Amino acid sequence: MSVQRATDTVMPTAEETVSHNPMRPPADSPRTAGQAFRVFLTHPSPLIIVLALIGLGLLRVQEGSLGWLDAVIALGVLALFPINEWMIHVFILHYRPRRIFGVMVDFYLPKTHRRHHADPWNLDWVFVPRHVHALVLGAVALAYFMAGAWRSELLTFSFVYLLLGLHYEWVHYLTHITWCPPVAYYVQRVLEHRWHHFRNENYWWGVSMGMGDRLFNTAPDAKETARSGTNRDLGIGR
Ligand SMILES: [Zn+2]
Ligand SMILES: [Zn+2]
Ligand SMILES: [Zn+2]
Repeated sequence: MSVQRATDTVMPTAEETVSHNPMRPPADSPRTAGQAFRVFLTHPSPLIIVLALIGLGLLRVQEGSLGWLDAVIALGVLALFPINEWMIHVFILHYRPRRIFGVMVDFYLPKTHRRHHADPWNLDWVFVPRHVHALVLGAVALAYFMAGAWRSELLTFSFVYLLLGLHYEWVHYLTHITWCPPVAYYVQRVLEHRWHHFRNENYWWGVSMGMGDRLFNTAPDAKETARSGTNRDLGIGR
């Protein structure tokens, strides 16, 4: 139950999160739109994505005007994004380190996510770490040089994917600060992600979009769902 354990190899439960952290952001958390935008843009991840979007946008413009195929690609990425987000959260971010032939196999990305669960109001663990940007942008660059006749479609695909990636960063950031835009969609996203941290880390995997949780049945009624790390509520209220 120590903080050390949380940053080590085990994902902190909601019960542990609550016992080590307040349920609300700290007093110096952004509380206006202006403060929120300023703090958002002082972090490397949003800046890197914005720069990549500008570059990809310029390259795409050079390939000629947009057509029906671009619309199909954009809608396809939009439809699959919540599933992509859900799977990355479940299988990569919550990966459990395991011993394989005597060697403990762990990765930096799940490690940063365990730190994020242990210290949810620390913005330094909220954003996607930079080695992921290097991997993703490196893969886009490689695909660009190999795409041949499909270059413009690849650029559209990458642009829309990174745009939704930036939106993911924005929504995840909103869930960990005081300010929230007065938009029902964002209020609901903030609520569900805080349940993921403070009620039960085995549910509400969607961050910027909730469709994955609806598809895979991981968005239960919060009032009926006990805090993980304890079973004291189970079997009493139902
Ligand atoms: Zn920071
Ligand atoms: Zn979070
Ligand atoms: Zn998580």
